Amino acid sequence: MTGSLSVTDVAVDGRKVGVRCVDGMITDIGPDVAPRPGDEVIRAEGRRLVSPLINGHTHAAMTLFRGHGDDLPLMRWLKEIIWPLEARLEPEDVYWGVRLACLEMVASGTTCFWDMYWHPHAAARAVRDAGLRATIGIPLIDSDTSPKELKVQTVATLAQLLEVDGLITPALAPHAIYTVSEESLRWVAELAFERDLPVHMHLAETEPEVQDCLNAHGERPVAYVDRLGLLGGRTLLAHGVWVEPAELSVIAERQATIVTNPVANLKLGVGNVFDYLAARRAGVAVGLGTDGPASNNSLDMFDDLKIFALVQKHRAADPAAVSADEAWALGTGARAPLLGQARQIAVGQPADFLLLRDQTTELSFGEQYSAMVYGATGAIVDTVVVNGRVLMHQRAISGADEILDRARACARRLGLAPPQ
Ligand SMILES: [Zn+2]
Repeated sequence: MTGSLSVTDVAVDGRKVGVRCVDGMITDIGPDVAPRPGDEVIRAEGRRLVSPLINGHTHAAMTLFRGHGDDLPLMRWLKEIIWPLEARLEPEDVYWGVRLACLEMVASGTTCFWDMYWHPHAAARAVRDAGLRATIGIPLIDSDTSPKELKVQTVATLAQLLEVDGLITPALAPHAIYTVSEESLRWVAELAFERDLPVHMHLAETEPEVQDCLNAHGERPVAYVDRLGLLGGRTLLAHGVWVEPAELSVIAERQATIVTNPVANLKLGVGNVFDYLAARRAGVAVGLGTDGPASNNSLDMFDDLKIFALVQKHRAADPAAVSADEAWALGTGARAPLLGQARQIAVGQPADFLLLRDQTTELSFGEQYSAMVYGATGAIVDTVVVNGRVLMHQRAISGADEILDRARACARRLGLAPPQ
């Protein structure tokens, strides 16, 4: 982003300051920092500036499927609702589904996300056009495709993704150990190493997945993916609900990241809760995600922050197990450098931040992080800046009506919205 932006009279950690951003970076912060000629200016009296949220695991285009087949068991939901729909999905559907997801994410303070879904090139174009940051995973499943064909398709998709300008990082996204063969998983590990690509996969989400892995390979999921070379500093494991303490030590040693998705796990009734305290003790990097909007069903990370903190307190039978500050740190990616940002608000950092409205029932009283984690929803977010560009101001996002109309038309074509 080229250009300059000044935010005046904004509260940062209780101090009123000015913030100036040039070419997408924060260049000045302080009580005496004032706009210069030519700056775009946001007058932020009554606003607090905080780091944005990072959604560490989602399938953004599934906004189109939201509200269909809820409350079904997983395999019935997939077989009867999702897979038949996905067979008819066009790149245009993914583009507008992701634009709709970006709209919802911006409106609730998320500026960066890790995605895994079909037609990743369409998703990347949507993220570019929305102005967010994303790591776009190329989905790999070889139950219906030969490993050879999968390699050819993946390399071609990677080349397409690298052509999309914008704040996009391509990744390899083998869906899970039960949908990708051992041969393909090994190949993913090699390609990721050769091209220095992140790997984004589901792991140990349900107990049957662990049991099947033990039956098929004689080892638990973490040992299995480690033997195939998949665990490293650029590996993101979504869920990890059924990972045991000994496996957490291996994940920490390999410097891989776990993204916990507490709301999606509760909704699916996976019967367990990710052992965050054991992960913290082992030194594992941990982030927070929503999972797809068809299995959460919200992309408002404020929900997930609260539920994360509550289920961990409940699991530990200890209200002090996870503080509001710690939950917020997880939600902003501060405990998982792989997610893409060590976003303190400081000179020399990318100009990504939120302005929260002070005069809300949630934020007007009490300690700030408690209010944000336990009391608030994304509705407290007033303004969103990414890479120095204002994506939302006073809750208005340009083009929102068109995005909603176009996404609704895609849902209608798929038989998911009533005719006009
Ligand atoms: Zn998922």
